[in-house]
Amino acid sequence: QRRQQFRDASLPARTRDNAQVEVAANIGSALEAPGAFDCGAEGVGLFRTEMLYMDRDAAPDEQEQFEAYQQVLLTAQNRPVIFRTMDIGGDKQIPYLNIPQEENPFLGYRAVRIYPEFTDLFRTQLRAILRAGASGNALLMIPMVHSLEQILWVKQILRQAQEELKAQGLRHAAQLPLGIMVEVPSVCFIIDHFCEEVDFFSIGSNDMTQYLYAVDRNNPRVSALYNPVTPSFMRMVRQIVTAAHRHGKWVGLCGELGGESRYLPLLLGLGIDEFSMSGSRIPAFKAQLRQLDSHLCRELAEKACDCRSPEEIETLLLGFAPETP
Ligand code: PEP
Ligand code: MG
Repeated sequence: QRRQQFRDASLPARTRDNAQVEVAANIGSALEAPGAFDCGAEGVGLFRTEMLYMDRDAAPDEQEQFEAYQQVLLTAQNRPVIFRTMDIGGDKQIPYLNIPQEENPFLGYRAVRIYPEFTDLFRTQLRAILRAGASGNALLMIPMVHSLEQILWVKQILRQAQEELKAQGLRHAAQLPLGIMVEVPSVCFIIDHFCEEVDFFSIGSNDMTQYLYAVDRNNPRVSALYNPVTPSFMRMVRQIVTAAHRHGKWVGLCGELGGESRYLPLLLGLGIDEFSMSGSRIPAFKAQLRQLDSHLCRELAEKACDCRSPEEIETLLLGFAPETP
């Protein structure tokens, strides 16, 4: 069965009633890209670029980053690649940045929050992505955004980087689609405002789960509470997708939840447009998708939003027969 799934991996990601979604891969380095595409990835939904900054004594310079990003874009052969700018700080300690240890790193100084202090580092990364963007289909995504001001600031630095490259006569992408990760709950209430500033959204369910319930994702004592499949989480996703679609923007999901087959009918029913997961999960994902009916999934998701407990949602899933339209 697994061999058959791999043989079918290059087929499009469609339900039995021909509803199409995009299935992309999460990668942490250029080396992971070929394997992901072999598994049938239709793009890279999350390139965790921070991996380039870790386990070394100094930040990678523009040229080194440019080469890594370009390599992924060339491997992608015009399929979309979403470059998430560095998600560092917090629990991902980078010694050469000299950020003091924090008592509460997940609520601390990380990702987009550190960029204003390290503007040069951020601008260098943007320059590398813009330059690589001339060789393929690149998109830019900012992690941990929680307010509109943060994205307005990012856009200002992005404009600066573009003007610099233009002035220097360096080949670069004139325009990159810009998106944000939706992983801090405050964003959910102002999706309409973000729609005026960005092109797409990707729900980071790993962080969103911990921030929605205030449950540390790495603390075993509260791990039983770390569950992205609850009525509140489902309603939150519904609210994000509804608001984004109203403004013509698409919504992806790039946390671990997206690769969990049990929950695919729910997430599909909630209207997620793009699923990004580790490449190895893609063949099984597409095979499962082909069995599903999108209308039934939509009904299922509505029911899940009305459930009163996670257990009720699980019971609903157990009784779900995907094949009978
Ligand atoms: C997430 O938070 O869901 C996510 C994809 O980002 P990371 O796991 O890298 O924080
Ligand atoms: Mg995250």
